[in-house]
Amino acid sequence: VDDMVAEDIERFENSFVGINKRYRIINRIGEGTFSTVYKAEDLEYYKYNNRWDIDERERGKWTSPAKVKRSSRRPHYVAIKKIYVTSSPIRIFNELELLFDLKNSDSVCPLITAFRHQDQVVAVLPYFQHQDFRDYYKDMKVSEMRLYMKSLFTALRAVHNRKILHRDVKPTNFLYNKWQNRGVLVDFGLAEREGTEWQQCNCTLPADERRYRVAHSIYAQNQQAGHQTTSYPKNDTRSSRRANRAGTRGFRAPEVLLKCTQQTTIIDMWSAGVILLTLLTRRFPFFHSADDIDALLEITTIFGRRKMKEAALLHGQVFETNIPSYSEHGHSLEKIILWCTGRTDTDKNAPKKELDDEEKEAVAFLYKLLECDPARRITADEALRHPFLTKSYE
Ligand code: ADP
Ligand code: MG
Repeated sequence: VDDMVAEDIERFENSFVGINKRYRIINRIGEGTFSTVYKAEDLEYYKYNNRWDIDERERGKWTSPAKVKRSSRRPHYVAIKKIYVTSSPIRIFNELELLFDLKNSDSVCPLITAFRHQDQVVAVLPYFQHQDFRDYYKDMKVSEMRLYMKSLFTALRAVHNRKILHRDVKPTNFLYNKWQNRGVLVDFGLAEREGTEWQQCNCTLPADERRYRVAHSIYAQNQQAGHQTTSYPKNDTRSSRRANRAGTRGFRAPEVLLKCTQQTTIIDMWSAGVILLTLLTRRFPFFHSADDIDALLEITTIFGRRKMKEAALLHGQVFETNIPSYSEHGHSLEKIILWCTGRTDTDKNAPKKELDDEEKEAVAFLYKLLECDPARRITADEALRHPFLTKSYE
């Protein structure tokens, strides 16, 4: 733990009075735009017998922690998510409520409890041992990709069955333990139920901006209520500001980028497709777009103008570009994977380089995920029944 982190931990412990009576904070494990996550030891785990965690459920032998002998007690770790005070109370409540709703699905990191001290809310989750995506995406075998995707779709099926859109599916929000071939979905900060009120009224704003807007307007209200002399303009014509959600934009489905008003759980399947594309091309992040238009253009590079025009029409939008480098029909995913993995022919006489059979199967599956028309995209349940995931290769 370096000095900066130690200082941050100390500041947190001092500001959240009483937190260190219950938890010993060990390290900072995540720092994002909307929260900081700490690894901590639950000092009172064995005092409560209604506490469970993922490993206990996994082993299937479920003994009341209170009955565990003192000598065989192992330390119990949790992840403490400190949600930034700029997040709107509705958003915080939403995240906690959805997590609570999903508490019985094995593949979603369950909420143990949550605390509030003044304006600070923390969520406590079981600590899930996992590897950093950057440490394994470059050398994952196709057989390992199958297991990864299977685990991801098991999680998504559970979420989607409850009509919840995760909205932020990406490697840092799917904690994967490759020794157990098992992962859990985290971060329901942008998640919402299908057909949610704010989805309908604010549908033209991408999720992160929406979150930022809510926070921003609350901040403005607070400022007005306070002694600040600057007043907030009634009709704010400034374009909404973007919160920096690096890496997320590249995972957005075309219908999200096209600001479709009826978004469903199927948007998450596109994001899962981007993860598989990342694994197959060994490029992370695969897309680097600076904004939504850029993101649409990156997709156009692959799928071509014609598909994008069709996709736009589905949502009552017109897609036009005068950039000559985008081809009408785009490029095949096979070709893109060959390019990205350096298997292109420079010598015309050399034998044509091809994907191996397993990769070809992966690509066939990938086409079902990266389907621009949401109505034709594969669901999590269908994905789990797809030969790519059901076939056994041992
Ligand atoms: P944010 O909204 O800031 O992205 P997340 O819920 O995604 O917050 O958590 C940020 C990071 O913290 C994750 O990418 C992961 O590395 C770590 N993390 C979150 N929850 C857990 C957990 N239960 N176990 C282990 N690490 C976690
Ligand atoms: Mg996250």
